[in-house]
Amino acid sequence: MKFRTLFTVLAAGVTVASCTSEPLADPASQLQAARSGPAFAASAEPEEEPVLSPFLADLDARLAASGSNLRVLRAEFMVDTGAAEFGSQVLIANNRVRGLAYEWVSGDPRRGGRVGVNYAFDPYQGREPFTRNPDGSGLRQMPFAELEPQLEQAMSAWRDRTCSDAPIDRVALPAGVDPDLLDNLFLGSDGGRGTPVTLSDIVQAGWQLPSFFTAFAGPSGNNIIGVTFSFYFVDGSGNPTDINGDGRLDTGLAELYYNTRFAWGNSGAPNVVDTWHITTHETGHAVSLAHFGKVFVTKRDAANGISITDIKYAPRALMNAVYVTGRTPITGTDNSSFCQVWASKN
Ligand SMILES: [Zn+2]
Repeated sequence: MKFRTLFTVLAAGVTVASCTSEPLADPASQLQAARSGPAFAASAEPEEEPVLSPFLADLDARLAASGSNLRVLRAEFMVDTGAAEFGSQVLIANNRVRGLAYEWVSGDPRRGGRVGVNYAFDPYQGREPFTRNPDGSGLRQMPFAELEPQLEQAMSAWRDRTCSDAPIDRVALPAGVDPDLLDNLFLGSDGGRGTPVTLSDIVQAGWQLPSFFTAFAGPSGNNIIGVTFSFYFVDGSGNPTDINGDGRLDTGLAELYYNTRFAWGNSGAPNVVDTWHITTHETGHAVSLAHFGKVFVTKRDAANGISITDIKYAPRALMNAVYVTGRTPITGTDNSSFCQVWASKN
């Protein structure tokens, strides 16, 4: 069952005027929503409280000043909180989009009329992450040729879902082109390739130095493992659009970045973050999935201090907000969450 929390978004000024945690049953409220322009639904699941980010607000202002029809919706990231336990956090640029659901619109003319989504990899070679051998030895950097099939696995993990035929297609990147917005805007850390060109809906933008993450999250950015930036489309007046009337913001772009401060790998080596888990989780955000599931520690389990085995999930899922080493596959809950979004996009 999917409850929708309706926010009434006023056409002028766009402020959140009202909200309720119950399905809207009151006809007067529905009428008010209908008269005040698009009514956007909140995420299907309650989630962690987003934090307003001055950096993202500034980024939004720069996008507006440049005449772009994109705005930052949110930055969702996994953080290393120590002791091999990872939590998550959400940054937003402004309150008007707090908690709102967002989806790619099938056939959106602003994205070339694509039914599904396409994606590109940024093969920028300057930021290769480290990996280790399965026994923990042999710390070395991975070249893009080694990273590319790992990123492709994250894309195919979602593409292989059988409930949707909507394409998730890769776009080839012309040599020398910078396909992502944010690395250029953050510290010019784009390899000096000049003006970014938006070639795809989703950009696996690769790995960046910790300074990239502290630029938008402050000192705690050092502990960010991976982040997904989601953008939504606005109209000529800067208001969010809902061209297909599904009560959701129209997603315009997603860029994903990973931190070189961690060692990465798919071999289960000690002291690495699981590349498949993190890249597939972040890609889950890029295909419109939010976190879900409860994470908790019982009083009894915590009696002698909290260890990894004390942490419980209900249900366990790849899209849980907390990651505790190793790998969680795409579970039935992840799959049904994906299918709720994508089954109708064939
Ligand atoms: Zn996440």
